[in-house]
Amino acid sequence: MKSRLIIVNSMQWDVSAQIIDSYCDTLVQAVSQIDTWLGVPGCLEGSVKKSGGIRIVSSPWIWQKLGFHHVEYNTIFLDPRNLAMDTVVHEFAHIFDNLLGSHILAAIFGGGPSDDMIRYLGIEPDQFFPRFHSPGYERSFQENHIELNPTVYGRTYGPAEDFAETFKLAVLDPERLFLAAPRRYKWIQNWKNEHFFNPDSLTLTGRKSADND
Ligand SMILES: [Zn+2]
Repeated sequence: MKSRLIIVNSMQWDVSAQIIDSYCDTLVQAVSQIDTWLGVPGCLEGSVKKSGGIRIVSSPWIWQKLGFHHVEYNTIFLDPRNLAMDTVVHEFAHIFDNLLGSHILAAIFGGGPSDDMIRYLGIEPDQFFPRFHSPGYERSFQENHIELNPTVYGRTYGPAEDFAETFKLAVLDPERLFLAAPRRYKWIQNWKNEHFFNPDSLTLTGRKSADND
């Protein structure tokens, strides 16, 4: 089956007609890699479906000028000029930040798993805003002698990017994460078990409803 049909019919996600077929292939490959890491076929599709699915659209021109793909709540905005599989895995981490966080834009305002990871490492995330671009982020880790994210992007910009890069490495290059950032590796393995171990009971909005009660 063509990847676009898999996304629309099987995953029941929205994908804009502007997203070309080869990007749909890349998206399906990324989902398959994440499912392999989760250890449960169909886990990502099923769990996200319960949370209202995912929308995949083309970036507005301003973001294309900036040269970034980005995520707002459950929508992935893709720069139509290039798309690599590891980028898609990274963007899915931002989706998890938003869906699991206490704020629907947790990747900007905080309150998601990225904050949990940074606190676990020993740094208070509330000092960083916006969460995806906070000057001094790397320095605060260096000054406190805390392990840095193995990627330059992950260590430089802020908690949301640190988490997204940690997730990307956990899925695509776990050995590198284990060797270069063992505390992040341990945290994300625990996080996976906590949220995805039993896909039947998974609701990606669990924390949100608890907070609203
Ligand atoms: Zn990012």
